[in-house]
This record gives sequence, C-alpha cells and structure tokens, in this order.
Amino acid sequence: MDAGLKRELEAKVYAGERLTREDGIALYECDDLVWLGRLAHHRRTERNGDRVMFNVNRHLNLTNVCSASCAYCSFQRKPGEKDAYTMRVDEAVRKAKEMEDEQLTELHIVNGLHPTLPWRYYPKVLRELKAALPNVKLKAFTATEVQWFEKISGLSADEILDELMDAGLESLTGGGAEIFDWEVRQHIVDHDCHWEDWSRIHRLAHSKGMRTPATMLYGHIEEPRHRVDHVLRLRELQDETGGFVVFIPLRYQHDFVDSADGKIRNRLQARTTMASPAESLKTFAVSRLLFDNVPHVKCFWVMHGLSVAQLSLNFGVDDLDGSVVEYKITHDADAYGTPSTMHREDLLDLIWDAGFRPVERDTRYDVVREYDPAPSLAERRAEPQRVWA
Ligand code: SF4
Repeated sequence: MDAGLKRELEAKVYAGERLTREDGIALYECDDLVWLGRLAHHRRTERNGDRVMFNVNRHLNLTNVCSASCAYCSFQRKPGEKDAYTMRVDEAVRKAKEMEDEQLTELHIVNGLHPTLPWRYYPKVLRELKAALPNVKLKAFTATEVQWFEKISGLSADEILDELMDAGLESLTGGGAEIFDWEVRQHIVDHDCHWEDWSRIHRLAHSKGMRTPATMLYGHIEEPRHRVDHVLRLRELQDETGGFVVFIPLRYQHDFVDSADGKIRNRLQARTTMASPAESLKTFAVSRLLFDNVPHVKCFWVMHGLSVAQLSLNFGVDDLDGSVVEYKITHDADAYGTPSTMHREDLLDLIWDAGFRPVERDTRYDVVREYDPAPSLAERRAEPQRVWA
C-alpha cells in the first residue's frame, strides 16, 4: 500500500469516518500488520477502553447427526455412523447439571440438522434445561437450524422463535453465516439457508428484542473481497436493526482425524491451507475497522491458541469466548494442543497478562463483574505467565 493511501485511510479512521468496500479490500492488501493493529486498536479502545469481556459458558451439542454435508464440516455424522449420537432430553439435562458447580452463566447449544428428530424435541429440551438451571442463560440454535425447524414443523420462524423464547431461549447463536457471497457459498454450504434466510431470521430475532452474535468463517477458499462483502452486508443490517452485539471471525480448521472412525470429513482440505496467525490478526483488525456499528469483536480462543488470542486484543478484539469444557465442533478438527478447558481464573490471568482489564459479562453483554485493571508491566514481568499454550 502506498504511503498516500495509508495516510488517507488513517485520517478516515481517526476522524471516525465509515470505511468503504474499496477501503476494506485495500486494508486486506496491506502487509503492515503493526499499522493495521494500531488503527484497529484505536477503534477498539475508543469503544471499549482497556476492557476485555468474557463469560463463563459451556457448549452443548445435542446431536451431531446432520442431513447436510457442508464441505468444511468435521462435526456432522450420518445416522448409523459409528460415533453418531443424539442426546435424549434427560441426558442433555443430566450433562448440563454436571456443569452446575462451575458457576456458568450461559449454555451455548448448536446441533446438526437431524433428519428425524421432531420439532417438539427442541423447545422441550430448552424448557427442561431452564427448569434444571434457572440462572443459566440459553444461547441456542443457528439461523440455519431455525430455518430447518420451519421445514420440519410447518411453522413460521415467527412462531418458532416465540415458542423457543417462551421455553427459555435468550439468544440465537451466530453460526450458519460462513461466507454469504454465493460465488463461495455454493461450494462450501450444503443446506439452503443463505443470506436471505439467515438475515430474515436474525432481523426477526432483533425485532423480538434479542441481541444476537454474527460470525464469518474465513481462511478457506474465499478471498479477502468476500470477507469484506460479508461484513458490509452485516453492517447494513445492523444499521437497520441494531441487534448484533458481537462479530466473531471464525478460523476455518482442517480435520486432523481425531474422530472415532478415523475418517476425514472436510472436503476442502486437499485444496486449502489454514489462515496463518498473521492472517487471523489482520482479519480481526479489518473486521473491527469496517464493522463500525457492532459493539464487540470476539476471538474464540479454541481456534487460535492462547498466544494468538492474547495478541488479538491489540488487533481490535475486546471479547474472549469464555470457559469451554466441551466444544465438539472445533475439537473434532484440532491438532494444536489447545486446552479444551479454561476456567474463570485462567481467563483472568490471560487477560491481565496481556495488559487489559477483565470484565465478566452475561449473554446480553451486560456487566456481571468488573475486575481490577492489569498490574503494571514491571509486576507482570516479575512473575511468569501462569496460563500458556
Ligand atoms: S456445518 Fe452444520 S449444517 Fe453443515 S454439515 Fe456441519 S453440522 Fe450440518
């Protein structure tokens, strides 16, 4: 990037001006990672100061049986496959109850598009989970799952969301977004929930008072212009509804064959690499700069390892996805030795060691507890970091 364009973009960011599609593409073409980080950190700090939010949550996947076979997915199994599973309602409740002692505030529930489970199963699970764990917020189902419920129930998304909310649903999850541009999407997604339905369902959720996350799967066959397009669609919807609370760039993962049957399910693997840490930091930074109307940008540390997660806090990120005891969708495709469990104390140390102030939040991003700011650099240097990976 030439110095003139750099000065122009810098002036826009410092003046708080909205960046364009061309600006976004130019930022992705720039290899000056430190400069990009500085701009993104400026935007992040303006909005969120030195705070890094986290929540204490657990992931629950009720079934890995799925009618679709998305090209990047290592999680889905077909009925009858060796490690296919579906939890009965009482099993899901028992599993959730086992987590009760860990002071969790949120259960994050996403699932395969099960071909034969009836629609009634889903509100029933939520209702019973809520009864068993009344203080835990239920963040559940992607827009893709909601569209699937429309098909299997004959109900409208409006009726479905009403029933799920009545059963205890606090928020949808942000998944199913992947990359919206059809040029890419047609090659990676194997169901028929695309931008039109995904945005329709989130718009509806926002109109009912929900605050939802939005994700983007990057680092596979898409190009930076597709990432820019993805963010700009979300930014426009956010101008309309204001209902997105966080943007989560998700790093596409290869399948490292840790499943019980040893099969590689990821069909993109032969022709893709995974995004490098530098590319991930760039994606966080450009996302923060472009998506100027979303309050938070999240790093899901399970996909990056803790070191990159810490660095991301200087590249636009102000939210770390919390403690995770079980997260099957990524861990079916992970060979990095990333820990699968982090507890509140680990996250606090991680955030302090990176030089930020931890803030525990709930599902709606309301503050649960604000902690002390980071100790001075001298104090941090005097004691080796306790949590590392
Ligand atoms: S990404 Fe979701 S919908 Fe696609 S195959 Fe995997 S579980 Fe099924």
